[in-house]
Amino acid sequence: MSKTNGKDADGPEPGKIRETASQGDAGHRTKGKQAEKKAKGGARGGAKQEARTRRADGHPPSSAAWARAADAGMGTAPSLSPHRHPRLARAAPGIVTVEPGIRFALASVDADATGGLDKAEAKAALADERERIKALQEKLYAEHARSLLVVFQAIDTGGKDGTIRSVLEGVNPQGCRVWSFKVPSAEELDQDFLWRYHARAPGRGLIGVFNRSHYEDVLVVRVKGLVPEETWRERYGLINDFERLLTLSGTTILKFFLHISKDEQKERLEARLEDPDKHWKFDPADLTERKSWDAYRTAFDDALSRCSTPYAPWHVVPANRKWARNLMVARTIADTLEAMDPRFPPAREGLAGLKVPD
Ligand code: ADP
Repeated sequence: MSKTNGKDADGPEPGKIRETASQGDAGHRTKGKQAEKKAKGGARGGAKQEARTRRADGHPPSSAAWARAADAGMGTAPSLSPHRHPRLARAAPGIVTVEPGIRFALASVDADATGGLDKAEAKAALADERERIKALQEKLYAEHARSLLVVFQAIDTGGKDGTIRSVLEGVNPQGCRVWSFKVPSAEELDQDFLWRYHARAPGRGLIGVFNRSHYEDVLVVRVKGLVPEETWRERYGLINDFERLLTLSGTTILKFFLHISKDEQKERLEARLEDPDKHWKFDPADLTERKSWDAYRTAFDDALSRCSTPYAPWHVVPANRKWARNLMVARTIADTLEAMDPRFPPAREGLAGLKVPD
């Protein structure tokens, strides 16, 4: 078995790496200096240039521009034709969206960032976002045509459970499925690595939530050396293809990485040790995992770099402040649902004259 301790940084294919992204106060997309070779002329260069230009003003390129840019070689995976591209929304202020084809590093994102929010305002705004999610979910469910998959990844104590609890409060449970992925069972290990995730992808009309996900198979699996290196290396492309398949099948994918600092993790682990009501959450294995902090960081950097695609980009959420994190995630989910524009199906004909018998 090869060593998979995460020492060797990986990323988009050589020649496609442009730079490490950075976080600015105003911009909530990764920004790029035009550090690399100028794009070659012609249509391909034009597509790259368009994506750069649009990004410079803090606005995401349109879906079509992104798709063309990916066709021109910026992306790490095949693009979708523009007319089949999912309707994605711009992430909420404070979130850093990883541009496809960029060599990204979490070190460039401030985990304390709040997106300029104030705590009191954020709490009130969260209630509004929950209402928006609730109303849009009802339409998504009634429409029964498309689905939304929300993926959460984080280091231990990163806040996946708390975010899901907070953001989905009030959502109709019938229209929502939350799956927490643990160490695979013997049955799951007998199948291909995506089998258990594919089986739980949300059906039409549903919001699916993955608490941990197929990314574990290039994260913990890599850090702990559970499969040979050539196996996990192949998985980035397979994951991109899997997400493309889901997208083409009508699923919009939102991927959130909850980003906390090492100091914040220490505080959260200590809080679990000190409070008897939180003892159940404390797993001594978390202390062992903490020793692999740097290896996890490398594995996360690679996964975010290689698997941020035009159709399913990664969103890095500064997550040291729980109140800001919750609002950023809720707002992005609400905006995405709004962009999907679900609609109640048309009423059956002849309803107008109908009377309900006594
Ligand atoms: P959580 O930390 O998500 O609240 P647990 O404490 O039960 O839940 O941890 C789940 C464990 O399962 C984590 O250590 C995670 O790394 C592990 N895990 C998840 N998916 C895989 C996988 N595909 N292969 C190996 N381990 C996995």
